[in-house]
Amino acid sequence: MLGPVILAASRSDRMRRLISAAPVTKQVVDRFIPGETVGDIVPIIKDLTAKGLELTMDVVGEDITTPEQATAARDAYLELIDQLKDLGLGERVEMSVKLSMFGQALEDGHELALANVRPVVEAAAAIGTTVTLDAEDHTTLDSMFAIHDELRKDFPQTGCVIQAYLFRTEADARRLAANGSRVRIVKGAYKEPAEVAYQQKPEIDKAYVRVLKILMEGEGYPMIGSHDPRLISITQELARRAGRKLDEYEFQMLYGIRSDEHLRLAAEGHRMRVYTAYGTDWYGYFMRRLAEKPANLQFFLRSMVSKG
Ligand SMILES: Cc1cc2nc3c(=O)[nH]c(=O)nc-3n(C[C@H](O)[C@H](O)[C@H](O)COP(=O)(O)OP(=O)(O)OC[C@H]3O[C@@H](n4cnc5c(N)ncnc54)[C@H](O)[C@@H]3O)c2cc1C
Repeated sequence: MLGPVILAASRSDRMRRLISAAPVTKQVVDRFIPGETVGDIVPIIKDLTAKGLELTMDVVGEDITTPEQATAARDAYLELIDQLKDLGLGERVEMSVKLSMFGQALEDGHELALANVRPVVEAAAAIGTTVTLDAEDHTTLDSMFAIHDELRKDFPQTGCVIQAYLFRTEADARRLAANGSRVRIVKGAYKEPAEVAYQQKPEIDKAYVRVLKILMEGEGYPMIGSHDPRLISITQELARRAGRKLDEYEFQMLYGIRSDEHLRLAAEGHRMRVYTAYGTDWYGYFMRRLAEKPANLQFFLRSMVSKG
């Protein structure tokens, strides 16, 4: 019940100011967003890759309001890729981007976002890695998929994300599975209306499994973005039935969530990619993590009260 309330709060400027300024916020945020700068994050990249994990990097920030901010977002990714070049990790560290941060919601946003994301995809390819386009709220998805198609003409490894809670997703999965795309499947983290999305967890979980089957039986490369133990076992079984080898799909989880499971799956020989977010504009990302698990919110509120 709390999830939708927290997601609504994540759109409020007043809440953003209150929560960002709270004295204990930083220490709770650090669990999910372990750095603010490239300098903070490079040691974390080295540490996780040394443990056999792979990464997808997210420079946090969304809901920007000017084209200059979109350019700054592009430059932040280019700075990161420049640092990655020296580490020589290739596809073990890829990038995840939110097109809203590249200007998608501004005037002529579709073209602007494409123009800003293309140099990031080019720079990633030049160091042997790639970019995945995150899925945001449902109103942005036609533009995201069109940009994905456009980028794949030159960079077929470019990935995208689909969300099991949306009614449209089975059709999207069929198209992407047939055209050999890299696709991350997730449950979905935004507040969506009942006209477009399943609202109850059991329905979302069933839809996830249907989409997973389509991806596993298709021509593409499935990336399973979930911490749900049941879905992890179902993935392993469906991959086995589809005759997929361990390097023909991968698991993905968020930094700071079920970290022991990251190591366990990697030790079993699975490709395990950790979605690692960093940067200063962490509010939206942080609020979605609180919304996913009420215990996170309770912990956050308790720490505010005990320090207050
Ligand atoms: C790699 C990755 C990339 C993602 N990219 C996108 C995207 O582009 N667009 C999008 O809409 N969503 C994205 N998401 C978020 C996703 O939609 C879900 O909101 C999130 O993964 C929680 O769902 P779950 O599958 O883990 O299952 P749940 O049923 O929510 O959780 C299963 C178990 O995982 C643990 N868990 C889950 N979330 C948390 C949390 N926040 N804190 C602590 N424990 C937790 C708990 O133990 C929980 O019982 C991404 C998720 C992952 C893992």
